[in-house]
Amino acid sequence: METNFNLDAAIRKVPDFPKKGILFYDITSILANPEAFKYCLDAMEALYRNEQIDAVAAIESRGFVFAAPFADRLGIPLILIRKKGKLPGKTLSKKYQLEYGEAEIEVHPEDVPVGKQVLVVDDLIATGGTLRAATDLIASAGAKVAGLFGVVGLPFLNYRAVLGNIPIKTLIEYH
Ligand code: AMP
Repeated sequence: METNFNLDAAIRKVPDFPKKGILFYDITSILANPEAFKYCLDAMEALYRNEQIDAVAAIESRGFVFAAPFADRLGIPLILIRKKGKLPGKTLSKKYQLEYGEAEIEVHPEDVPVGKQVLVVDDLIATGGTLRAATDLIASAGAKVAGLFGVVGLPFLNYRAVLGNIPIKTLIEYH
């Protein structure tokens, strides 16, 4: 694994998206750069190779992109956490607050391995609200959330306070 890769340079920053005052960290520029994408997957694998992770849960939609190849590399099940109304089977759901309004995510409880250790993956952790809801959802399906992962972390938004004592790992943080 290349250790001195400049991940920051591979992330496109878009000011005032989706609205004025937000700096959007766009990971599509990682995906379009095979060296950067491989760096991320190698780093994720190195972070969790020696931990007891039985399954990975991915947040729609940019979380899917990182979680799917990661699950394949570790040879563990992949669970999709989707926006309401997308999963066809019996679902469990969780509502949570956004800055404006409310969102709802769902999972197929049949896909969640009861009593096992699950890592939840998203592309970016901002306020932590999405991962908090995902954690509650996985717990309500009977598994234990062993860790949370974001390629990018924005710790100044205080996600650690929202996410409690679950171990959180990121590849790059912006302050
Ligand atoms: P939060 O629930 O506040 O932690 O927000 C996390 C979700 O919103 C992730 O799925 C991110 O993809 C997206 N997101 C929030 N803020 C940003 C940002 N500044 N740049 C890119 N994505 C963001």
